[in-house]
Amino acid sequence: MSTSDKTAWTALGHDLERAHDAGVTAASAGLRDAALGALRLTGPGVGTLADAAVTSATPFVRAPLLARMSAARLLHQPDDGGVLCPACRVQFPCATVQVLR
Ligand SMILES: [Zn+2]
Repeated sequence: MSTSDKTAWTALGHDLERAHDAGVTAASAGLRDAALGALRLTGPGVGTLADAAVTSATPFVRAPLLARMSAARLLHQPDDGGVLCPACRVQFPCATVQVLR
């Protein structure tokens, strides 16, 4: 893995952590929503429940997006060691691949 790939994965990991934290915050607020009436949750366990819910749901939310990103990446991958993106006709890696890293 190249240094730029490692940097991209580190940035992606940071983005995923931030997205997870935002999801837990939103889920916690939703579980505490007064509009839920008698079903509304309160107390110190709400954050743990929200984290469990987000952790469980995340793979199902991500799967369609990741599948489309993978398909787009394959469309922009040169065959047989070529140097040009077959879709963009520019030197690989094209702008699309750079964004998908
Ligand atoms: Zn391309």
